[in-house]
Amino acid sequence: MKKLNGIKLKHRKNTENSSTVDFPVPEKVTIPMSMTMGAPCQPLVKVGDTVAVGQKIGDTDAAFSAPVHSGVSGKVTAITDYRNVMGTVCKMIEIETDGLQTVSDEVKPPVVTDKESFVKAVRQSGACGLGGAGFPTHIKLNPKADIDTLIINAAECEPYITADYREMMENPQDIINGINLVKSKLGIKTAKLAIEANKPEAIKNFTAMAENDDTIDIITLPSAYPQGAEKVIIYNSTGRIVNEGSLPADAGVIVMNVSTVAFLYRYMQTGMPLVTRRLTIDGNAVGEPKNVRTVIGTSFRELLEFCKADIDSIKKLIAGGPMMGMSVPDIDMPVVKTSNALLAFNHYDERKTSSCIRCGRCVRVCPLGLMPADIDRAYKIRNVEELKKLKVMLCMNCGSCTYVCPANRKLAETNQLAKALIPRK
Ligand code: SF4
Ligand code: SF4
Repeated sequence: MKKLNGIKLKHRKNTENSSTVDFPVPEKVTIPMSMTMGAPCQPLVKVGDTVAVGQKIGDTDAAFSAPVHSGVSGKVTAITDYRNVMGTVCKMIEIETDGLQTVSDEVKPPVVTDKESFVKAVRQSGACGLGGAGFPTHIKLNPKADIDTLIINAAECEPYITADYREMMENPQDIINGINLVKSKLGIKTAKLAIEANKPEAIKNFTAMAENDDTIDIITLPSAYPQGAEKVIIYNSTGRIVNEGSLPADAGVIVMNVSTVAFLYRYMQTGMPLVTRRLTIDGNAVGEPKNVRTVIGTSFRELLEFCKADIDSIKKLIAGGPMMGMSVPDIDMPVVKTSNALLAFNHYDERKTSSCIRCGRCVRVCPLGLMPADIDRAYKIRNVEELKKLKVMLCMNCGSCTYVCPANRKLAETNQLAKALIPRK
């Protein structure tokens, strides 16, 4: 099997041995109505309403979305407009907590009898991909094509982030139970739990746990970024290629994040929807890097203070990893479903961009064999036909080309802009 390109990054997994610490319930949370891919939800509560933990507070009739629940009990004090890091505008519900954490009557294990009721329950849980992409899980688990393989993405290939790793170390049985749950409800024969080689303890533990189960394979992925990118993990786990314009399901696979599958298992047992999140807080402005579990809606500022960050020194704040994460424009923004890391740095070097020197490094590192320098040139003159020929739509935005470019060209960013020029079918 041909090896895909990848780059060697410093792992900087400073928090890999930090057990998850629970952040106390904050005095106030702000919960956006858009936290997954797809349509934003509309608030189901109004100012002055009392809410309880696990209560649904936002939903939509749109199929491609997931409902929003409260992780606190308290009173709704405001409903405002909110712009997230992707620029999407939605409503945001502010709740003043009462400290009681009264659990809603809505919280009870769902009744699941078949695939249809399972998928319905998954939607009700509010689940989405917890690796950062935020794809609604109920859509993923209801594909039109036949699926024979479930791939569990436990690569966590970006530097710094160890949130999934802590799930693997702290709740391994939930992961195995979640895999078996999805396999049985969807009638999938085989699961592959794919872990990057830089997590030998996790590989050892899961290999022992799955020793007598020939329906779960433990795959060791090479330690070369970006192993967690969907097309890369599918190829490296099964040898299958997801063609341009196709979905993983067209290749007979579903890819789920490892923390998502563990969450789903717990949801089916308890009925508590997705209202908390474990995230890695790190970066050189953070005095005590940690993995913290907190209710969705907690402000980034409070978490940074909790981790002894020097707030005044922060020059760059990133939600997610340094390769694919998004810059955070406002330290008071809230934790959302997709927040797997918050990185705070006390320096930010805006590197000067110069002309391409045709060194070919960007081509050599692209896992998909794209030609980022040519895409960059075609985008500059808005040559849509050339962009199509260069298969820009395949770009996974992994950032490897930008990372290696000696001319500091913002290649991955350009690819995203170039994609927007290609008409959708
Ligand atoms: S960002 Fe796109 S073009 Fe650049 S290396 Fe990744 S997949 Fe290739
Ligand atoms: S890495 Fe940068 S300088 Fe080298 S070919 Fe690509 S765009 Fe040009």
